[in-house]
Amino acid sequence: MVNLLSQITGIDNTVTREILGNVDSLSRTIFYVLTVFALCSFFHGLWSRWTLWRQGRRRDRSPESMRFCVIFRRVITRVLLQRRVRRQRKSAGRAHVLLFGGFGILFIGTILIAIEHYSAAATGRSAEDPIFHKGLYFVIYEFVLDTAGLALLVGCLWFLKRRFKSDSSMAHVRSDYVVLGLLVSLVITGYVAEGLRVTLEQTPLPGFSYVGLLFAWPLQWLGITTENAAPIHLTLWWVHVVLALGLIALFPHTRLLHSLAGAVNLALSEQTLGVMHPISIEQVEETGLVGAEKITDFTRWQLLSLDACVSCGRCEDLCPADQAGKTLSPRDVVQGLRGVMELGNVPLNNGISNDAAWACTTCHACVETCPLGVDPLEFITDVRRNLVAEGKLKGPPGQALQKMQRSGNPWGLPADERLSWAEGLNVPLVNEVEDFEIVYWVGCAAAYDRRIQKVARAVVQLLQAAEVQFVVLGPEERCTGESARRMGDEFLFQELAANNISTLSKYPVKKIVTHCPHCLNSFKHDYPQFYEEFGAGDNFHFEAVHHTQFLSELLAEGRLVIPESAEGANANAALLTYHDPCYLARVNGITESPRELIQLTLPEESVVELSRCGENTACCGAGGGRMWFDDESVERTGGGRVDEVIESNAKTLAVSCPFCLTMMSDGLAAREAAVEVRDVAELLLEALGTAN
Ligand code: SF4
Ligand code: SF4
Repeated sequence: MVNLLSQITGIDNTVTREILGNVDSLSRTIFYVLTVFALCSFFHGLWSRWTLWRQGRRRDRSPESMRFCVIFRRVITRVLLQRRVRRQRKSAGRAHVLLFGGFGILFIGTILIAIEHYSAAATGRSAEDPIFHKGLYFVIYEFVLDTAGLALLVGCLWFLKRRFKSDSSMAHVRSDYVVLGLLVSLVITGYVAEGLRVTLEQTPLPGFSYVGLLFAWPLQWLGITTENAAPIHLTLWWVHVVLALGLIALFPHTRLLHSLAGAVNLALSEQTLGVMHPISIEQVEETGLVGAEKITDFTRWQLLSLDACVSCGRCEDLCPADQAGKTLSPRDVVQGLRGVMELGNVPLNNGISNDAAWACTTCHACVETCPLGVDPLEFITDVRRNLVAEGKLKGPPGQALQKMQRSGNPWGLPADERLSWAEGLNVPLVNEVEDFEIVYWVGCAAAYDRRIQKVARAVVQLLQAAEVQFVVLGPEERCTGESARRMGDEFLFQELAANNISTLSKYPVKKIVTHCPHCLNSFKHDYPQFYEEFGAGDNFHFEAVHHTQFLSELLAEGRLVIPESAEGANANAALLTYHDPCYLARVNGITESPRELIQLTLPEESVVELSRCGENTACCGAGGGRMWFDDESVERTGGGRVDEVIESNAKTLAVSCPFCLTMMSDGLAAREAAVEVRDVAELLLEALGTAN
């Protein structure tokens, strides 16, 4: 094949160059000795990190996530194609692709040339008679490696420039400049040495080493010729070699380590948004521990991920708590815990303070954006679990947990009041109807909060208009426990989940419709972890959908029809904007159905998008149990989002989450903004011309 291509291209199969040409035997010996030292430093450094990671708890990955094809796909998409790196910060993403791609190709090229050199030596071939490093392969090799060096150089220069810019959100340590400087010097000395080698050896077809020639031209202009190039070439070769070996020796001791730790983390991490790892009573009895109290209470995978973090600041840029001036920055959490891991026996709050842990809204923005697959949120919830177990959550959020425990809802109100919102609506209870299509999961907010009760009434009237056979659980319903779990009270969550699973398994439930994205996430990701444990039976399974999804389906099927007279009823409506809830859009990817419903109620020109929308939404500040913290309205984490709504000039804010409705209403009222906040179901009901 190669011969055929050589004939087609006319490139002689004898075209090659001598490997380690102009390098005398003493230099070669010293080179090998230095290489051994560099490799010792490399492996010693890696071993040191490995021992730090191994301090963590064991946690086996699920068999599904360890399947070869799953890991292979992750390596291709996440590591080699750098999908997560390219997603945001487009310029930085492109520069990283150049740096990573260039480095990777040069690394492979070096391995190939070593294979050629030592295989040829082992088989007694002369330098002029290589095994494969010749002809067309050689020409392509020279061209590709020259181009890869150029890519690496451009990438490094871009990152150097960015590091010198004071507005960059990257954290800077001196070793970062050293590493980038080393890489730039390595590439430049490599090019100059290559140009000199071409001059010295009169390598055939030198044009394919085009960048090397470019770098060598100034030297040729200064009078360097084939006759006098040898000592200068050898000197440059040595500088290049020392830089390369220095880089290998420093690798595990600098930010370069992220390329190894990050690749392993990306290839093997199970990260699915919205999922938490359960803990069992047996585990607690065995370890005497809930959550993380010391660095060794995190898992080995979590500790490895600390070394993957490059302190790029992408997570911090998106963190609503950081933007609201709280003491939390996900980057600082990760870097702080990395420091604790390195120091060993120091308290965990040297890396993450209690205030920082409680400031998190579990919005998942940091998890979703991290290009290296680091999960700051998992560290935070592990710390919360321990704080709750130690009784360190006081005040209103602690009381909300007690109310959930006592009454099955964070309001602490009796279960027999759960249906007070439905007065006059003739809502069927699950124990009164034998055959039904869906269970409408009302949730605690709609059961007890007067404003949210109107949303439940709107949903029910829409279901009735579409003649859907639905039921509600009424007094049998309990809080899903989602807030309790995210606040760190795992066993309270499990108690509530056990109760709900036991209730649901009594009835032929096939589909649950909920208007709360937090309940939805719990049904999708939390509850299935416990079906077996809570004795739900082998056939127990139901689909959970958001009310916006279900209403869209009803419209698409023609079961819910907006009368022509009602269409465009809001044609002169003032501007409306829609706020995507984190647990609906970012965590569960549901962004289209609410928009479809809004478009039916308003002409296109009356709807304006917020600057952060869809899966890139911004948090209202209520998630992760923050709903139960008593911050002043103006100090709340969602303040930035409220300002965004005001800046949009919208007069109506559509939402699809009871927490968002409450937080945004309070925030807008605190700023005296004349913006009405309404659930999408209420807008749709209005378009149908039915009173709520
Ligand atoms: S955790 Fe991820 S996003 Fe945050 S600073 Fe580290 S690498 Fe960047
Ligand atoms: S989950 Fe959200 S609030 Fe919590 S640290 Fe991450 S970005 Fe910040």
